[in-house]
Amino acid sequence: MSSSIRALLARAAVIAVATLGLSAAGAPRARAEDDPAKLVEEGRVRLEAGDVETAVKVLRRARDLAPDDADVGEALGAALVHLASEELERREVEAARRHAEEAVRLVPKRWDAHAVLGIARFREQAWEGSARSLQRAVENGGGDRPRVLTWLGHALYRMNDNAGAIARWEKARALVAAKADDDDEAAAALLGEIDAALEKVRREEKVEGGFEEGLSNHFRLKWDGGGEDPALGATVLSLLEDAWNTVGYDIGRYPEGEVPVVVYGEREFRGAVGAHGWVAGLYDGKIRIPVRGLASADPASLRAVVTHEFTHALLHAAGGGRVPIWFQEGLAQKQEGRAVAESEAVLRERRREGWSLPAVADLEKAFVKVRERERVEVLYAVSHLLVEELLATSGATALTDYLDALAAGIETGPAFQKAFGTTLADFHRDFVGRR
Ligand SMILES: [Zn+2]
Repeated sequence: MSSSIRALLARAAVIAVATLGLSAAGAPRARAEDDPAKLVEEGRVRLEAGDVETAVKVLRRARDLAPDDADVGEALGAALVHLASEELERREVEAARRHAEEAVRLVPKRWDAHAVLGIARFREQAWEGSARSLQRAVENGGGDRPRVLTWLGHALYRMNDNAGAIARWEKARALVAAKADDDDEAAAALLGEIDAALEKVRREEKVEGGFEEGLSNHFRLKWDGGGEDPALGATVLSLLEDAWNTVGYDIGRYPEGEVPVVVYGEREFRGAVGAHGWVAGLYDGKIRIPVRGLASADPASLRAVVTHEFTHALLHAAGGGRVPIWFQEGLAQKQEGRAVAESEAVLRERRREGWSLPAVADLEKAFVKVRERERVEVLYAVSHLLVEELLATSGATALTDYLDALAAGIETGPAFQKAFGTTLADFHRDFVGRR
């Protein structure tokens, strides 16, 4: 070893000791990196300074040295809870779930370990596992935490348990209202979130209160069992499972967990959802479909509606809830089997009547808010044709690349360019120029 390297190493050791704030004197004590108690202390300091990753690393080393030490386990568990919540914020859901699971094993009595695991599972759309973890958070001291109860309400709502969700949200609301000062912004925001959720679920529960429940491999269905069609639930579930297979295969992604679905009668649908007359179904975290009754429903159009709405659910899951409206509507129409010629014909007809082609910005606003039927038809036709052309000219993996980029949190513009090799503005300009 050359003398300069030896000097460098010696210097590095001095720096390391200085960084830890420990004295180099006082030997022959155990070196800091071999002393679990010192490592725990360093982990706590790192955690307080906000350096969560290093805290976990240091505490893992302590755990290796003293696998049965309760203090070490507790400190590592606490650090993992922090790490998992940071990962959730960075949308690294799988890592967050793994670290939260590890935390729960180490500190099963800490409500926040269960809570962060419940939220990670919610993000993975594993509603049942999410509700179970959040319930354990409640049982381990998190029962007076409004945020825990609010998340539990969201998970139960996704499991179609409206009554359970209402009870949790009402309790959360009372807790926030009792504690909040007038100028507490975070509390006001949480109250707003809870009130919106309560208003929506109460309106739905008026209609869905007496509905029956059905389950299949990938769907949890609620439907009006008192209607004239005893076979309706089973029929819709089998159409949903078909859609899961075919759309999942085409797109190369499948939603994790269970997708909640509610099937209404035509009039009940308007009452529960408040949508315009032209809406044939919708996805708002649950697939909602109006059915006039199997006897009068056209099986092909029921299949098309189910496939269309399932495509929305899948895109929501695979794209992290960030897939633009026009892209969703275009792909949903492609998957439901709408013919290109049909959309071309609609577009020609509407343009003859004087309706213009939408700008890019119009394609990114919610179609369900548009009132004029003709305008809506133009938006759907253009979305459909754009997606068909896009997928015809790009490689087979472009679609999954696009969804993965969106799920990873990349902005929609760069994600589009990365996957399809062009900008949306250029692609749209070419499309308009050819018409
Ligand atoms: Zn749609």
